[in-house]
Parts: sequence; C-alpha cells; structure tokens
Amino acid sequence: MGPDEVRAIAISFLSLSLVYQSRIANYRRHSTSSSSSTNRVKIVEVGPRDGLQNEKQVIPTPTKVALINRLATEATLSHIEATAFVSPKWVPQMADNAAVLSSITRVPGVTYSVLTPNVKGLEGALQAGVGEVAIFGAASEAFSRKNINCSIEESLARFQDVMRVAKERNVPVRGYVSCVLGCPYEGSVKPEKVADVAAKLLAMGCHEISLGDTIGVGTPGAMANMLDHVLKVVPVHQVAVHCHDTYGQALANVLVALEKGVRTVDASVAGLGGCPYAKGASGNVATEDVVYMLHGMGYETGVDLGNLVKIGNWISAELGRENGSKVGKALAGAGEGKSKL
Ligand SMILES: [Zn+2]
Repeated sequence: MGPDEVRAIAISFLSLSLVYQSRIANYRRHSTSSSSSTNRVKIVEVGPRDGLQNEKQVIPTPTKVALINRLATEATLSHIEATAFVSPKWVPQMADNAAVLSSITRVPGVTYSVLTPNVKGLEGALQAGVGEVAIFGAASEAFSRKNINCSIEESLARFQDVMRVAKERNVPVRGYVSCVLGCPYEGSVKPEKVADVAAKLLAMGCHEISLGDTIGVGTPGAMANMLDHVLKVVPVHQVAVHCHDTYGQALANVLVALEKGVRTVDASVAGLGGCPYAKGASGNVATEDVVYMLHGMGYETGVDLGNLVKIGNWISAELGRENGSKVGKALAGAGEGKSKL
C-alpha cells in the first residue's frame, strides 16, 4: 500500500467520522428540550399533514413519502407531523395514513408524529409505529360545535381515552388549541378561554401545547396578550406557536412569541396549505421564512435552509401551485440569477 493510498483511506475515515460526529451532534441538539434561556428553536414541520390536508387535489402517496423523507434527510428537520389518523370521510387526503407511515424511511433521532382524534385512530397510528401523537381542542365554542359537533368540554372528555392508551403505550401526546386569536364563527376569542383550554390539555398529560391561529387573523398585540394569559398556566418550554399567514402577520406573531420565551414553532414547507375560511388565502407560515428569520437573528434550528428551499420549490412544482414561501422564491431566483452569470 503506497503513501497515497494510506492518505486516501485516512481521509475517508476522517470524513466518515466527521459525518457521524455531526449527525450525533445534530441528534443531541434535537433531543435537548427547548427552553427560553437557549437560542435553540425547535421547528415542528407540519407541511405533510396540516399543509397537504388543505390542498384540494388528492396527492399520490409516493409524493407524500418523498416529501417526508426529504424533509428529514436533506433539510435535517427533527420533528415532522406526517399524517392524520382520522376518518377518510372527514379528510380524504389523509386516507393513505398507514401506507405513508409504513413507506417512509425512518431517520434515527427524528420524531414522526400524527394527529389522532380518537382511540381507533391512535391504535392505527401505534400499529404503524408512530413516535408521537396529537389531539386538538378549540378555544372557540362555536368552532368546536361547527367542526366536531360538541362543546369544548365534551371534546376534551373524548380525548381522555386517547390519553390513557397513549400513556399505557408510552407515546407522548401534543395538544393543539385552535382559533387562539380568532374564530371564523364567533370572531374574537378571549385569551382567558385559550389559557383555560391550554391548562386543561396540560393537566390531561399533553407534553406540549401548540397554540394555533388557525385562520391567521391575529396581530402581534393580540398574540402578546394571549401568551401572557397562557404562560401563567403553562410553562413556557411546553408552549409552541402555530401561525397562519392569512393576513401576512405570521412572522411578526412568531417574533412576539420568541420575545416571550417560546422556543417551539410550527411551520409548513413552502407555506403548504390554505385557509378553508378564506378562499385563495395563504396557509401556514412557511418553514423557509421562519428558519431564515431565526438564523438571521442568531437562533439555531438545525435545519438546512438551502436544502429546505429546494424541497419547497420541488413540492410546489409537484402540486402545480405557487411557492408560498417568500424566502423560497427569493433564494431560488438568486440561484438562477447566479447560474446565468
Ligand atoms: Zn395550521
């Protein structure tokens, strides 16, 4: 073996070990719990579920699987909401939930979560080997009645069985509160009501409470006021914000949450999704836009923004929709500009 070969082998060992070390460092970063004292922000990618669920066209299962795989491996996202185990009668887009979960390539250290509104859904999700499940309650009485045909109190009571089975099986449960800054039926929502529902979900055993501005009507003042109420009853490290960009307020609202110490942010690649209550309106805040803002402010996310932008442009083309991320469009445009030089 000549010196060049020895050198080549040594270099390949070194690069392998560096890849391994950085991957381990990545897992460690991902696994440490978020806290207001750190500059680490946990991004929960909700595009494959919340985003695609609101797309009108039925999306082929392989496209969903490729999206989830690329988000985990290329964009190095650590938390991905993959699908929902709900009745296909309610949400036909998620009818392939088990096929999606069994087809994805699991990346160690990545949490794949699903929405499970009942024990039947939970059992299906557990069979498919899910790492985390989510339940939801509305902060608006009218929204709860119109959507799930029962009061908020009744909806929470129905989740008791889900919580019990999840606890038995040692699966963490995330609790969503929807309509925290406004409701399509009753208009403004009282922050006291949001805090009340959030506290109940926490008491039921949810490890994280995601506060959803489901229709994206909230402005930063309302977000600050709502968080002041919620943070009195839920520890800040267990709070997440879930903003929609219907009125262009999402990033400003995320910023307010960061200032209040929240370190978990939900977002959807390419801003996938829409708003069922405002035709043609934007959906979830785009992950690219959130990550760009966070990195610009010196926060760490562990997300590869360049690759995330590529995925956002790819899935937008697959769906034949405009990319809902401003950063996605700008960086793709900048790349094209450079290649023409
Ligand atoms: Zn959403």
